[in-house]
Amino acid sequence: MKTTNRRRWLRTVATAGVGVVGSQLIKPRTTESHARVTTASQSNQTTQSALLLKDYQPKSMLHVPETKVPRSRFPNIDFHTHLSWIDRKGEVDVVNHVGEPAEALRVMDAKNIKIMVNLTGGYGPLLEETVKHWQTAHPDRFLVFTEPWYDKANTPDYPKFQADQLEKAKKAGARGLKVLKTLGLYLRENIKTGPLVKIDDKRFDPMWEAAGALDMPVAIHVSDPEAFFLPTDRYNERYEELSAHPDWSFHGKDFPSNAELQEARNRVIARHPRTKFVALHVSDSENLPYVAECLDRYPNMYVDIAARIGELGRQPRMARKFFDNYQDRILFATDATPHGDETPQQIFGNELYEIYYRFLETEDEYFDYAPAPIPPQGRWRIYGIGLPETILQKVYYGNAARLLGLA
Ligand SMILES: [Zn+2]
Repeated sequence: MKTTNRRRWLRTVATAGVGVVGSQLIKPRTTESHARVTTASQSNQTTQSALLLKDYQPKSMLHVPETKVPRSRFPNIDFHTHLSWIDRKGEVDVVNHVGEPAEALRVMDAKNIKIMVNLTGGYGPLLEETVKHWQTAHPDRFLVFTEPWYDKANTPDYPKFQADQLEKAKKAGARGLKVLKTLGLYLRENIKTGPLVKIDDKRFDPMWEAAGALDMPVAIHVSDPEAFFLPTDRYNERYEELSAHPDWSFHGKDFPSNAELQEARNRVIARHPRTKFVALHVSDSENLPYVAECLDRYPNMYVDIAARIGELGRQPRMARKFFDNYQDRILFATDATPHGDETPQQIFGNELYEIYYRFLETEDEYFDYAPAPIPPQGRWRIYGIGLPETILQKVYYGNAARLLGLA
């Protein structure tokens, strides 16, 4: 990580409300015997003990192999990146390109990334801009997906309009459809107010059908880590992450549960067997037995591993079996975002890719899943799963190439 990024990241963490649990967690149990800890000989120790969780950065003392994997064993397709995003805050939506192709290509060439799929390409004229910026000059290196036109979702002709838009998007160069967790967690009947629109709401049926007919894979993100649906308290394993991003919490209010969101997504997959769905972020990475059940039930379902090696890598034996069993349906992906300083697990750059390669290719033990001084998604470290070449080839390239219709 660049020093400036690291500094900015530390600032983010420092401003988050992580102090209270910090002192509870780390301060020694001395309150009932105050005199004992304030004797002169111990005063220095007491000062040191008042360490806040946000300042705690323990270094591992393990003497274990550290394998550097500068390039992936096979050329790869990063199926899940954000090189553009749509700013919906103003009067009109605008597209932002997070960098220039030349800048991305430097990292891609160094790290053996053949293709980056830019999922958040927008819609209508915004999509055309994205295609022009990324894909036109480098059609063999960047692919762009389109997104639903949500602010028209409450108009009477929306079902047909959205299906037609998909066809137009394909003509404009889009290779697939991206559905953010907007559907299920943000989009409401009157767009920003009213009840939440369900993932399996019938008005989207023509869109899912059109995606299948046009051979455009659907990259769908539903729900989020299970801890995001629980109170942000001392028992929450993502306490620091949720404190840094309080708007990521889906606890309370009228939010559906993780299980309800997953099941609504499953009903969509079942209703549209011709359409190929990639459940992003391993669908439900804390519950691989459930994801396995879903994959068994729906042959048109796939998963990507974007931003979830922190989860997969802390259950390496279960994860390894999962890769063995579903080696034809797992896609390499990172969620990389150039200059995405607020989420270290996503910052596009050499460091990020080396961590993914180390996780997939080596049996190294207990290493950081993100280029950050403190593990940003939870305070644990990960273990490599040492996949054999046959599986690596499929996960890095073959599975995505098949879905994207590449030779
Ligand atoms: Zn993403």
